[in-house]
Amino acid sequence: MLKNYMEDVVITVYDDYRRRHPEICQCEQCRLDVIALALTRLRGMYAASPEGEILTRVARDDRQVRADALIAVMEALQIVKEKPRHRKG
Ligand SMILES: [Zn+2]
Repeated sequence: MLKNYMEDVVITVYDDYRRRHPEICQCEQCRLDVIALALTRLRGMYAASPEGEILTRVARDDRQVRADALIAVMEALQIVKEKPRHRKG
């Protein structure tokens, strides 16, 4: 449930950011890489709390979760930009 929630938040935040930044690579490979990397980072951030506490926090403070997700997405974008996997060879 937490995993699905975070996935939804990251995908929404990333797709919104990408729409407003056409200079970002728009290919599906980069999109999936950014989303996967951002989720890995967010799981680390939220893993410290017991799941029930996280879900309470998520429900109560959606804006903060989205802000955390945006930071994770930006960092993931940097990594993917430096080493994009869409390049052949
Ligand atoms: Zn790409």
